[in-house]
Amino acid sequence: MPGNDSNQRCVTFESEQLQSLLDAVQGRGYEVFGPRVRDNTIVLDRLSSITELPIGAGTDQNNARFRLTSRQDQAFFSYTVGAQSWKRYLHEPTLRLWNAQRDDGGFKVDANQSLPPKQAFVGVRPCELNAILALDRVLLHGVAADSAYRSRREKTLIVAVDCGVAGGTCFCTSMGTGPRASSGYDLALTEIIEGDRHYFVARAETELGAEILEGIPHSVPTEAERTAAENVVASAAAHMGRTVDAANIRDLLVRNPSHSRWDQVATRCMTCGNCTMVCPTCFCTTTTDVTDLAGEHAEHCRLWDSCFTLDYSYIHGGAVRSSAKSRFRQWLTHKFGIWFDQFGQSGCVGCGRCITWCPAGIDVTEELAALREGNPPGNCPPIRKETPRGNA
Ligand code: SF4
Ligand code: SF4
Repeated sequence: MPGNDSNQRCVTFESEQLQSLLDAVQGRGYEVFGPRVRDNTIVLDRLSSITELPIGAGTDQNNARFRLTSRQDQAFFSYTVGAQSWKRYLHEPTLRLWNAQRDDGGFKVDANQSLPPKQAFVGVRPCELNAILALDRVLLHGVAADSAYRSRREKTLIVAVDCGVAGGTCFCTSMGTGPRASSGYDLALTEIIEGDRHYFVARAETELGAEILEGIPHSVPTEAERTAAENVVASAAAHMGRTVDAANIRDLLVRNPSHSRWDQVATRCMTCGNCTMVCPTCFCTTTTDVTDLAGEHAEHCRLWDSCFTLDYSYIHGGAVRSSAKSRFRQWLTHKFGIWFDQFGQSGCVGCGRCITWCPAGIDVTEELAALREGNPPGNCPPIRKETPRGNA
């Protein structure tokens, strides 16, 4: 059963063997992506060696604040997430759907049929793993299933890493998504540093994951090593930067479209859309056409869009959500509320990115707490009974 440790292959390996693991993944034809330090932040990019990982890097995150810090050790995975999420490799920011070339007075149209390579994500955090599973629900299994997403997702191998350090804006424990990877991975690692010893306790959820572990020098975890792995995760859980009272949160939002807090937050929100761009579960898109100046070549592209843009809610005659208040309310109510009606789960995994990267320092946990204040719990009936299209 996925996520059940008793049925998982579980091993210990020393930190020097992490390169063997990377080699084993690459040797199976996967293009490997992972975290790296660039421009004083954590980015996701191609990875060929473990020396490219953010060794000894930590992060200091708060409202509108992200700083890299230096640790005293050589930890590979002690940073907390940067602005980029794995969404960019599954649901690309820009996707050319087709292009057309002028041809004998007409146009020859080519659909975008290039096949994506096999890709491996190394260092997927538990919240991010849950974000991928949330995207699966929408773009793999839902009525808005997307063939481009499917072609990438089906060729993706995931090496998750449990969190041993929580960021200042993290709240995965409130959303039930971390700090331990529970399922949805091929391999999950817990990084442990004890004095001079630096090692990993690893568990495999798939046959492929087990096969990879089998191929690298390892041992059976001792009781002490298993306990150390549990302690790493417990420490992260005990140091969450934020919390959210998630009880009846969907009903809280649905019952309060006229709360005065929406007016207050609207005085700060610049409708820049940063929160939606960094959010690992926001999936909305628009399309655009581009032609060259000679009119010989045209392209039809899909781009990430945001419910914070004025055009996003444009229908015949104008935008439905013309104010910052209505757009922020739409985003928060959809993310934490209407996702339940549409997809049976929250749209938030508690990664904290929207808090860190909001230039106005708006904090969703603070906004939700303010909405809850003086609001007794109560239920609201489902808004929709049928499964609607993906974009709300
Ligand atoms: S909440 Fe912050 S990040 Fe989101 S649109 Fe408003 S100002 Fe931009
Ligand atoms: S709403 Fe904010 S905290 Fe929640 S998943 Fe999106 S970016 Fe992360």
